Amino acid sequence: MDLSYTPEQQAFRAEVRDWLARHVPAEPLEHFDATRAGFEAHRQWENTLKSGDWGMVTWPVEYGGRGLDLIQWLIFEEEYYRAGAPGRVNQNGIFLLGPTLIEFGTHEQKQRFLPPMASGEEIWAQAWSEPQAGSDLAGVRATATRDGDDYILNGHKIWSSRAVFADWAFGLFRAPGSERHKGMSLIFFPLDAPGVTVNPIRKINGHVGFAEIFLENVRVPAFNRLGDEGQGWHICMATAGFERGLMLRSPARYQVAAAKLAALWQERKADADPMLEAEVIRAHMNAEAYALSIYQTASRLMAGAKIGPEASTNKIFWSELDIHLHRTALSILGPEAELLPPPGAQDWLDDYIFALAGPIYAGSNEIQRNIIAERMLGLPR
Ligand SMILES: Cc1cc2nc3c(=O)[nH]c(=O)nc-3n(C[C@H](O)[C@H](O)[C@H](O)COP(=O)(O)OP(=O)(O)OC[C@H]3O[C@@H](n4cnc5c(N)ncnc54)[C@H](O)[C@@H]3O)c2cc1C
Repeated sequence: MDLSYTPEQQAFRAEVRDWLARHVPAEPLEHFDATRAGFEAHRQWENTLKSGDWGMVTWPVEYGGRGLDLIQWLIFEEEYYRAGAPGRVNQNGIFLLGPTLIEFGTHEQKQRFLPPMASGEEIWAQAWSEPQAGSDLAGVRATATRDGDDYILNGHKIWSSRAVFADWAFGLFRAPGSERHKGMSLIFFPLDAPGVTVNPIRKINGHVGFAEIFLENVRVPAFNRLGDEGQGWHICMATAGFERGLMLRSPARYQVAAAKLAALWQERKADADPMLEAEVIRAHMNAEAYALSIYQTASRLMAGAKIGPEASTNKIFWSELDIHLHRTALSILGPEAELLPPPGAQDWLDDYIFALAGPIYAGSNEIQRNIIAERMLGLPR
């Protein structure tokens, strides 16, 4: 993509590239969902990033960031993916809770939670979904009962990514007797607190990528509530905006995958269906189009706008382009895709299976289409 960067932005890119070239592990780390050892290796990598002040470049310096803008973050991400650096085990903290804390937290909460998040000392899971409250998140039943300076938490959460090995979770709870969007609060709890039971859920690839969490009379200080009591829904929607629209899936992820797809095509095209060339080009164009739209969103946010329902269009776009890109790779590879990849090679099949989850997590695509219909197009419910 040919964007004009300022000399400062170009110098920043060179600095990131140089640092990553010296620090990215030579061998890929074991996946953080696979084993405790893989998780801890990724925690150590987060700590290495922090040692160079690269934990989260947009956060204020006093909370462990560099006080940079969103365009610099996008440049950082481009270099990060290009360097093949490890996946961010603390992505739920860094990319989702972090910006939410910066917007809604008190100074004391930011001081307490952001630095150990940036260093990987505390890894976070998101505990919103429940067995009867996924798409219909306002149906959450887990409760937070006020008791003096504490809350007592009870309930059952599910599909919590990273929770098997993580340290903390940010959960959505309601005041007893409250209904739907009213009476909700966002509350943090340690995953090893008395009364918390974390049951791993194994994915199709064998990794313990999710957990269900049972909370039985779990006591946490009211300090752990983000924002006002009852403001939980409003805060969650802000987090969901970061998740769907900008932070969770930076465009570099798809640009690098599209470049790998083009390389795969060059390597295999003699034996593949020639019609697939058009799909390889389409994957490349989709990734570039997504990058351009994110640069535009970032520029709008830097000018003071808030992310709105366009977070939903972005989410549908990145999740569908990811499936298309990986399906094209599998078509090029044919039955060979099902063989185990050589160590270090792109595992197209595993990544395809994960891509299939894209239209479900971060709010299903059907729900995003409802949001677009009602809030952007003004159609009736
Ligand atoms: C890989 C992955 C990671 C996840 N990580 C987390 C996490 O870390 N923390 C967390 O809290 N949750 C997480 N989730 C859970 C995720 O948020 C939910 O799966 C998702 O919100 C859908 O909820 P559900 O599974 O209960 O499906 P349901 O809500 O039961 O939906 C089932 C189907 O019905 C459709 N549907 C439902 N209501 C409507 C409607 N009104 N209009 C049209 N269609 C509708 C849905 O689109 C879907 O296709 C994760 C899920 C996945 C797959």
